[in-house]
Amino acid sequence: MRPQLPSAEFLSAPMPEPPDLHFFKAIVANANDIVIVTEVEPSDEPGPRIVYVNQALLNLTGYTEEEIVGRTPRILQGPKTSAKTRQKVREALERREPVRVEILNYAKDGAEYWLDMSIFPLHNADGKITHFGAIERDITQQKTMAEELARLANTDPLTGLDNRRAFMTKAQGEYERARRYARPLGILQIDIDHFKAINDSHGHHSGDEILRVVGLICRASLRSADIAGRLGGEEFAILLPEAPLAEARTIGERLRSMIEAESGWNRGREVDLTVSIGATELCCSDHHINDALRRADAALYEAKRLGRNRVAHNGCER
Ligand code: GH3
Ligand code: MG
Ligand code: MG
Repeated sequence: MRPQLPSAEFLSAPMPEPPDLHFFKAIVANANDIVIVTEVEPSDEPGPRIVYVNQALLNLTGYTEEEIVGRTPRILQGPKTSAKTRQKVREALERREPVRVEILNYAKDGAEYWLDMSIFPLHNADGKITHFGAIERDITQQKTMAEELARLANTDPLTGLDNRRAFMTKAQGEYERARRYARPLGILQIDIDHFKAINDSHGHHSGDEILRVVGLICRASLRSADIAGRLGGEEFAILLPEAPLAEARTIGERLRSMIEAESGWNRGREVDLTVSIGATELCCSDHHINDALRRADAALYEAKRLGRNRVAHNGCER
């Protein structure tokens, strides 16, 4: 939903006669949303001073009125407050325009909270802008929930790896980055050997356990920049930024042997756990990440054809 800002006409319109000014004071003081009033200057350090806060701000931040009035709202910001958002607010206020953003702030004890913050200029009786008013709503819960939903939508629940959708999005990003900076990008496609037979003889539950183990090994053995995904069934893929083909093959071989070493682990029952791996790298002739993934897939098919439990590769034509 796009944030709605109050129009300039609305903000500069004269107030209709209030039934009683005290009503408005009471409404603001008792609102569940935060209300803050600051002076307009200085926009440079140390920042404008707070002249009014309502109880909602004190409740959320843990500051007392004495601790916060006279100081700048910048004390509510912290290391994870987006610099871009701060800049957007600052630019709007320098133009004396209203602005609405979602911003991360900090309570007195350092706890983080998300605010939907709307700031607008306040005119005095002469029509001069002397203060800014801000109305802020705590949206921490919605933010946390939205983040959790996004995480669930992008994660394979069985292995905790990226699911196909997330992997493909990141893969396209890595493709573009590697292209732009002319950097190598290694790619591995991994498929468990005779997985159908494992399922058939040990049951689906054991099959799932094996998928988890393979996922764990993939995750544990990679560098932080590498991206591992479960593309579906018993197929995995790994992107290796900065790794040319030779390095991708070495990493693939290490993975293969680590997975093979898990054979026979399943509660005393003999399980042959091996994978076949196709390795490739990004080529100049690729127009899309899918071109490279297809090449890795062809190498994987070759590994299967050559007898499984091995790494086959498919390089660029020079
Ligand atoms: P190959 O060595 O040629 O790869 O043989 P395979 O049996 O592994 O290959 P195939 O593609 O024929 O079978 C894959 C099997 O993976 C089919 C299905 O029974 C199983 N499978 C797919 N997804 C899951 C899952 O989420 N859990 C479990 N337990 N099994 C799955
Ligand atoms: Mg398969
Ligand atoms: Mg298989």
